[in-house]
Amino acid sequence: MTIYTNGESNGNAAPAPHVHEAYHFNTRVIHAGSEANEETGAVIPPISLATTYKQTAVGVHKGFEYTRSNNPNRLAFEALIASLELPEPGDVHATTSQLAQDLPPALAFSSGSAVTQAIVSSLVKQNGHIISVGDVYGGTYRYFTKVAVNSGIETSFVHISMNEAASSIEAHAVEVEKQLEAAFRPETQLVWIETPTNPTLSVIDVETVARVAHAHGAIVVVDNTFMSSYYQQPLRLGADIVVHSVTKYLNGHSDVIMGVLVAPNPEIMDKLRFYQNAGGAVPGQFDSWLAQRGAKTLHLRMQTHGANALEIARWLERQDWVREVLYPGLEGAARTPIRHLAWKQLSPVAREKIESQGMDKDSGFPYGGMVSFRLDAAKLSAAEKATVSSNFLSALKVFTLAESLGGVESLAELPSLMTHASVSAEDRAILGIDDELIRLSVGIEDVRDLERDLVQAAKAASRA
Ligand SMILES: *Cc1c(COP(=O)(O)O)cnc(C)c1O
Repeated sequence: MTIYTNGESNGNAAPAPHVHEAYHFNTRVIHAGSEANEETGAVIPPISLATTYKQTAVGVHKGFEYTRSNNPNRLAFEALIASLELPEPGDVHATTSQLAQDLPPALAFSSGSAVTQAIVSSLVKQNGHIISVGDVYGGTYRYFTKVAVNSGIETSFVHISMNEAASSIEAHAVEVEKQLEAAFRPETQLVWIETPTNPTLSVIDVETVARVAHAHGAIVVVDNTFMSSYYQQPLRLGADIVVHSVTKYLNGHSDVIMGVLVAPNPEIMDKLRFYQNAGGAVPGQFDSWLAQRGAKTLHLRMQTHGANALEIARWLERQDWVREVLYPGLEGAARTPIRHLAWKQLSPVAREKIESQGMDKDSGFPYGGMVSFRLDAAKLSAAEKATVSSNFLSALKVFTLAESLGGVESLAELPSLMTHASVSAEDRAILGIDDELIRLSVGIEDVRDLERDLVQAAKAASRA
C-alpha cells in the first residue's frame, strides 16, 4: 500500500491513482490520521499510553517498538499535518497500521523550539552558515545567535520582507535576489524565513527566496505558524521544510506546547527522523491527541479569526487614536503590491473560500488572525508613549494582556517590552518595533465586543 507519493519513501516515483481524487482540505482536516480504530471501531483515536510494544518474535512488530521512536497518537497527528501541507496529501483513509508501514513525511516535537533545534542540528554542519529573515521569531533568533554559534554556525540576518516602498512584486523580487546573493557563502546550508513576519506582519516572497536558495544548493525552511496550514502551504511555493509551533493556531486552544515539521524530500526526512529519535524531544501521547482534536476545527477557526481580524483592521483605520494599521489583507492603494503578494501566497482552500464570499486581491481579504497597529499616543494622553500603551493594554477586558497567539481567545501585547524585549534597541528601530506598536491575536469572539473593548481601553488610557 502506498500512502505518500510525495515523500517517495518506498522508492515508487509514479503517483498512486488516489492522489488524483484527493479529498478537499476541510475533509482532510477531519479525517486524516483519524480512520476508525481497526480493533474496536472507535471513531476517535484511542490514547495509547504504552511506552513499549510487544514483539511476536525478535524484531517482529506492528511498527511500534518504543514510544520515543514511534507512537500511534503522534503518528496520527503527523499524518494529519502532512495531509494538510503536502501538495499531494496522501491517502486520508490510511489506518494506523498502514501509516506505521509508510510513515508520513512529518515529525512532531515537544515544542516549536525543539523543531528549530532538530533542523539546525541535523541539517547544518559544524561551521556552516544560515541565512535568516531579520524579524524572525525571538526564540529562533536566540537559538541561532546563542546556541548554534557554539557549533561554529553563523547566521546572517537579511531584511527581505516587502514594505510600502516596493513598486511591484517583480521589482521587489529583484531586490530580494540582490540581498540574498550578497548574503550567500559557500558554506550556506539553510535559509530560514517566516511570513508574515512578527510583529510588523510584512510579507516575504517565498518563491523568489526558494529559487535563489536552490541555485546555491541550500534548504529552504518556512515557519508557517502565523498563517497555519489553512491560509498558507509553503511547500507549494517551493519551500523544502515547513514548520509550525503547534502551540499556536494548529492546536488553537492555548493548552498544548508542541511543534511539527513537514519535509517531503526523503533524504532530508531521514536525517530529521534520525535526529527526532536520537534527540528525543518528542511530544507526549495526550498532547498529541489534544492537538489532533484541536486541529479538527482549524478551517472554521481560521475563517473566523480572519474575518474578525479584517474587520478590526478596517475599523482601527477609522479611529483617530490609531496612527497606522498593519495587516497584509487590508485594502488601500499604497498597500497594493503587499496585498497582491499576500494574495499570490494564499493556499487554494483559503483563496477559494474568500472568492466565494465575493472578495478578491483588491477588495481586501482575510489573511490570518494577527493585526498590529500603532497607537497615536499623543492623541490619548500627555504621558510617555510606553505608559499610554501600557494603560491601554491594562484596561482591556475581553482581550487578555498576554504573550503568545493563535488561541480562540483574543490576546493583546506590547512587543517592545514583551515578546521582542530581547531584541536590541537598535534592531527594534530597524524593524519598526516602537512603544506605540501593539500586536493583537484576534480571537473568535463576537467582533462587536472586541471593538467595544478597544474603544473603552482607549478612553481609559486617555483618562489615566
Ligand atoms: C511560538 C513560536 C515558535 C516557538 O514555538 P514554541 O512552541 O513556543 O516552542 C516558533 N515560531 C513562531 C513563529 C512562534 O510564534
